[in-house]
Amino acid sequence: MNFMDNDMDKNMETDQSKGSDSVEDKQGTDTSSEQDNGGDYEQFCSMCRRPESKTGRLMKLPGDLNICPDCMQKSFDTFRHSGIDINSLPKIPIGRIDLSQLGFTQVQPRAGVKKKKAVDKAPKEELKLSDVPRPHLIKAMLDEYVVGQEKAKKVLSVAVYNHYKRVFSDNKDGVEIEKSNILMIGPTGSGKTFLVRTLANLLKVPLATSDATSLTEAGYIGDDIESVLSKLLMAADNDVERAEHGIVFIDEIDKIAKKQNTTSRDVSGESVQQELLKMLEGSRVEVPVGSTSKNPMVPTATIDTKNILFICGGAFPELEEIIRQRLKGQNSIGFSSTLEAAQASSDEVLAQVSLEDLRKFGMIPEFIGRLPVIATLETLTKEYLVRILKEPKNAIIRQYQKLMDMDEVKLEFEDGALELMAEKALKKETGARALRAIIEEYMLDIMYEIPRDNSIGRVVITREYLEEKGGPKIILRGMDQLPESVG
Ligand code: ADP
Repeated sequence: MNFMDNDMDKNMETDQSKGSDSVEDKQGTDTSSEQDNGGDYEQFCSMCRRPESKTGRLMKLPGDLNICPDCMQKSFDTFRHSGIDINSLPKIPIGRIDLSQLGFTQVQPRAGVKKKKAVDKAPKEELKLSDVPRPHLIKAMLDEYVVGQEKAKKVLSVAVYNHYKRVFSDNKDGVEIEKSNILMIGPTGSGKTFLVRTLANLLKVPLATSDATSLTEAGYIGDDIESVLSKLLMAADNDVERAEHGIVFIDEIDKIAKKQNTTSRDVSGESVQQELLKMLEGSRVEVPVGSTSKNPMVPTATIDTKNILFICGGAFPELEEIIRQRLKGQNSIGFSSTLEAAQASSDEVLAQVSLEDLRKFGMIPEFIGRLPVIATLETLTKEYLVRILKEPKNAIIRQYQKLMDMDEVKLEFEDGALELMAEKALKKETGARALRAIIEEYMLDIMYEIPRDNSIGRVVITREYLEEKGGPKIILRGMDQLPESVG
């Protein structure tokens, strides 16, 4: 088409065919577009009204019109399909196009609709070894948020520190430090995801979490393996370099164990383990930018996974039995007799996990070999659950106290009340995960009723109140010594 002769279309062509460089280039152009519009607001396509961050670079046309590459392409397609011979249209030099002749109508910004403010881009932070705290400091920071799981926190702190040392090391002396990807084994709700999330926040590195159950072998229904890296790239604001120093957490990894006794192709089990191998070890992977599935219209970027820390987590439900079987009749490290081994708790048994046990469970040896650091997490007891309610920096009850504080009401919980909530959570067998829903249910009435009455200065949640045998203790402002109960 003759439109391709003019500069406008050359612009479009280069925009659409940028391929793997587009991430970097896009960032390079962001500043200019921000300058164009005063730096405060994003520009948007005059036709489809999507902002430039969604559409890709807009083409600026006379009359304050901006057209995105998609809308421009659609318009050309419409011409072609409607049989209009574009060559017969009057040739108008670029810069003086009368869009009405081309079938465009100028779309005026809707009055009163505020354009989306462009997200302030933080200056690129390049991770340096000096930014990575030493293991005891990483552990101390984790302690502020994660209750218990002492061993796992220690293992993780050392593994992460070593990982980043490896990233910044050179191997001039011929000593190459191997990757220390991590396997976390622990019951549901024991804090596997929470630990990784906290760690990534503390280190200020991008984190992508994926569920292994959604992954399938390329070409089958489900997410391709590369989708985990696309998520990481998104978490790194499309900055390839930041993504390459990030963390990928793949949860429910036990669900991709080799299927036993199956005759059909195991597209979500063993094959996924096979496909993950290269990525875990370090390879250059082409991933779609801004999307989790490959598609010819989506630009791609190449990510080197060499320095990405992979952490896999799972509950491995039948693993305990496999380990117990192995321990039977053998005096293993940690247990002085077979009887002691037989009486050991689930946590003690899990802590004895070996590569052989994992292989029996259905993980292929090459896969386990790429996760050399193993951290086992304990089952959370009632005492831990009570501590989780009140101790972490952003503990749930602290959050409620902050909300009440805004109404100048002091909120307190009696120990009995916290224990009751922990007991309820324990019954659900989902670890600490159940706590939030339980406390939310109990707090609904309090959060609704208390702001009604300005005279209330303090509220104490009692076990009796949660058991519906009484009301919370209500103390009026200035009458701290006179508790009252409301039903
Ligand atoms: P999973 O082990 O299944 O990945 P999660 O990490 O998702 O469990 O835990 C669910 C929630 O429970 C977390 O978001 C966190 O709020 C809380 N939680 C779990 N374990 C702990 C812990 N040890 N300390 C503090 N909070 C925890």
